[in-house]
Amino acid sequence: MEKLSNPQVTIETIKKYNFAFQKRFGQNFLIDGHVIEKIIRAADISKDDVVLEIGPGIGTMTQYLAETAGKVYAVEIDKNLIPILEDTLSDYDNVTVINEDILKLDIGELIKEEKGNLKVVANLPYYITTPIIMGLLENHIPAKSITVMVQKEVAERMQAGAGSKDYGALSLAVQYYAEPYIAANVPPNCFMPRPNVGSAVIRLTSFSKPPVEVKDEKLMFKIIRASFNQRRKTLQNGINNSPDLNFTKEQVADALKELGKNENVRGETLTLSEFANLSDLLLKNR
Ligand code: SAM
Repeated sequence: MEKLSNPQVTIETIKKYNFAFQKRFGQNFLIDGHVIEKIIRAADISKDDVVLEIGPGIGTMTQYLAETAGKVYAVEIDKNLIPILEDTLSDYDNVTVINEDILKLDIGELIKEEKGNLKVVANLPYYITTPIIMGLLENHIPAKSITVMVQKEVAERMQAGAGSKDYGALSLAVQYYAEPYIAANVPPNCFMPRPNVGSAVIRLTSFSKPPVEVKDEKLMFKIIRASFNQRRKTLQNGINNSPDLNFTKEQVADALKELGKNENVRGETLTLSEFANLSDLLLKNR
């Protein structure tokens, strides 16, 4: 069968199955083979790899993944797409399609028999980008890398460093688990239907060990969230106003002093390693 990355083939397939795009599932299908090749190159896929594709749609990228990877698991929530995928992927015997919500799937269980390197590849549904990425990272899915198409602004937030306008809780969470690299920017006309936003391909290469040591990871992330919840407030107020944390003003002031920070310091200026140190200091004085 001719590839779905040819827009005419996508149009014919959609007509043949009378498929109606579902906005609520974030359905914007790729119609550009060059973009798909870029994603596959960024993910560095070979026959030794097992790929988990989130949201295969009608199978446009899955066709390329099946040709380059050893095996592909494609997890799609929309049951109306399943008969289409059976048709468009019928030439490949190394693809397993699973009709599930990725946020509910036990990925560890799914791949427990697999020996190859696991790599996650997806053109993500933008409405749930953050829960999907955070779920993969926090649950310690044994993936070597996660290469995904996301909204351009979200890619920039994941890659942002301390002090930049895009820096926030997502930057710190991603950078605790992985090294981000933006591989390409992708304009709306590469999708059907066209999204209202620009897109980017970002690769997150998992660390075998986080780049900073912290005694209580959960506490550090609570502090991080508290300090970005109230962007224009000081870090001191952010922590003291958080319902998830109960440190006194003195405890926070002392910890900041020990960290060598002024009491008016804002969360967005602290690096990951400073947040780790602050968390350890607060834990020590609790
Ligand atoms: N990979 C296809 C492509 O590039 O043409 C489709 C990408 S489209 C942006 C996102 C896909 O994710 C859609 O097929 C949508 O139905 C699916 N999806 C949305 N929410 C999902 C979820 N919670 N679990 C699994 N798939 C989901």
